[in-house]
Amino acid sequence: MSGKADPRPAGEGTTSRARLDRGRGALGPALELVHTGRAPTRAVLTAELGVTRATAGAVAAELEALGLIRVDARPTAAAGSQGRPSHRLEVAREGPVVLAAQVHSDGFRAALVGLGGRIVATTPSCETVDADPAKVLGAAVDAGAELLRRTGRRCVGAGLAVPSAVTEPEGLALNPLHLAWPAGAPVREIFAERIRAAGVPGPAFAANDVNLAALAEHRHGAGRGSRDLLCVATGHRGVGGALVLDGRLHTGSSGLALEVGHLTVNPEGRPCHCGGRGCLDVEADPLALLTAAGRAPGPEG
Ligand SMILES: [Zn+2]
Repeated sequence: MSGKADPRPAGEGTTSRARLDRGRGALGPALELVHTGRAPTRAVLTAELGVTRATAGAVAAELEALGLIRVDARPTAAAGSQGRPSHRLEVAREGPVVLAAQVHSDGFRAALVGLGGRIVATTPSCETVDADPAKVLGAAVDAGAELLRRTGRRCVGAGLAVPSAVTEPEGLALNPLHLAWPAGAPVREIFAERIRAAGVPGPAFAANDVNLAALAEHRHGAGRGSRDLLCVATGHRGVGGALVLDGRLHTGSSGLALEVGHLTVNPEGRPCHCGGRGCLDVEADPLALLTAAGRAPGPEG
């Protein structure tokens, strides 16, 4: 929908403010559309938001003024505009970032990630994971905070991915089977505390690594534009699953939905760290595949 007549009289000076007031509720959805690449032009943004062209223009201008997107006013017949010239939209390369940290069986590292899912900077990988989660998360947060100092980027939040089911709403790492961490370690609370202590602004969140990977694929990768997404993934050890339904992560009542790693796929199979036998986790993870191929796992796992 576009080109709908603006019913207000054009009171010079107040016009753009009035448009913006009506478009203010659209700022978040508009930023998400540009962030996920679904609104490459102002014409597409107008159609996706279902507002007038004038309102979409005011919303895009406000997001640009906030340093979140860039509006390229040079006319171009870009995709989605049916050949009609439209301003191009893209995320601001110097916009805000989040501090992202990941722990896996063979190490951990931190990174700064900007709008559009662009990685701005990463720390070197640390290859030992202490048995005390507070030490590991403290080191990852300190490394990420150092990146923020060095780059001078504005931080709006922090996220941590761990190779364990994370309970909802408590944020406990229920089964960190590939780490020496105690089962039930309060990883979300520890991470948030370390983030606060390091002076990193914004909220802090911790979740299962495959759940977060599924969300990332849904927004920026293989699942972009789809309604639902099933993700079964493996990184260094084990196999995890996640389900995005109608654009939202399906975690179940306690955060443990789609923990597929311990489904039995071979009753006569290898013993699993969970106490079972022949779980997907030990039958189909990188270690099992390397072994089946007659290769010894290297330092990269
Ligand atoms: Zn198992």
